[in-house]
Amino acid sequence: MRALVFNEDGGYAVVERPMPEPDAGEVLFRTHYSGICGTDLHAVELGRYTDDVVIGHEFAGEVASVGPGVAGWRAGDRAAVHPKGNVCGACPECRDGLPNLCSAPDIGGTAGIGSDGGMASYVSLPAGKLRRLPDEVSMLEGAWVEPVAVALRGVTRSGFKVGRRAVVVGAGPIGLLTVIHLRLGGASEIIVLEPSELRRAKAEEVGADLTIDPLADDPAAIFGGDIERPDYAFECSAAPGALDTAVDILPHHGALALLGVATSPVSFRSDIIIRKELTVTGSSSYAEEFDIAIRLLARKALDVRPLTSDVVGLEGVFDAFERLRQGTAIKILVRPED
Ligand SMILES: [Zn+2]
Ligand SMILES: [Zn+2]
Repeated sequence: MRALVFNEDGGYAVVERPMPEPDAGEVLFRTHYSGICGTDLHAVELGRYTDDVVIGHEFAGEVASVGPGVAGWRAGDRAAVHPKGNVCGACPECRDGLPNLCSAPDIGGTAGIGSDGGMASYVSLPAGKLRRLPDEVSMLEGAWVEPVAVALRGVTRSGFKVGRRAVVVGAGPIGLLTVIHLRLGGASEIIVLEPSELRRAKAEEVGADLTIDPLADDPAAIFGGDIERPDYAFECSAAPGALDTAVDILPHHGALALLGVATSPVSFRSDIIIRKELTVTGSSSYAEEFDIAIRLLARKALDVRPLTSDVVGLEGVFDAFERLRQGTAIKILVRPED
């Protein structure tokens, strides 16, 4: 079978791989859809990917067969893969109900980053990484569970309250999903800062009240003047200067939630954070949000189809990477069997 693998020294290659065989406790999983994540585009700079790993950590499909000792799963079962779904359960973080922060090496590695993931027709996975997909959630939607959960945790961690105003900085997939969650959560006003026209249009389509091109109109000059300052700012861009912008436009006692992962150190005006007594929250992957994301998709509380720019086969991934880098697509899903 063909697979998209990460090479430490040069990025990516589609290579021929033998059909994996499930060990004890593992299932052989057939991937239907696997999303390309912004993290994948920056794998070399991030330095977190294992050399020669099959990438893809946002994926859904079905169980093809089960290895020895697997209970509760059988061939044909539909599932989304929780890439960090089997943790130690014993470290201080796990004991505090924070499996997303587990300090022991994930058993089997994070799928698509530390161990093989979704960018191949088949992958062997510990059964503990599978989360059942109800019939109401399509396979395509199943590939969205992971990013939906990431954005959901960012909103939850911010302490967002119904009826408040919010600014979202950056309208990539996580920024757009943050807009959707804020709308679901009862925001009274959602303003998006985003230089790409395509992404601004998409933000308005999914529920932003107003979008601003920060390169054309200085947000620091607008907020507090024509537009009221937001109670919350969600930084989803990791763009240089974005943190300063968010800190500038927030009022005293505003809340800044960080979701965008910068690939190099960023500086920001800590004196303003102190003077305004801002609250800053970090948010790392997801805990219970993964199962909540499945429930939200099952009851059609949110629609990810407008965010799905394209579905390509493995031969289309390099072109897809380029489109994502240029910002001419929002999210591209891969069907590895094609
Ligand atoms: Zn991701
Ligand atoms: Zn742990």
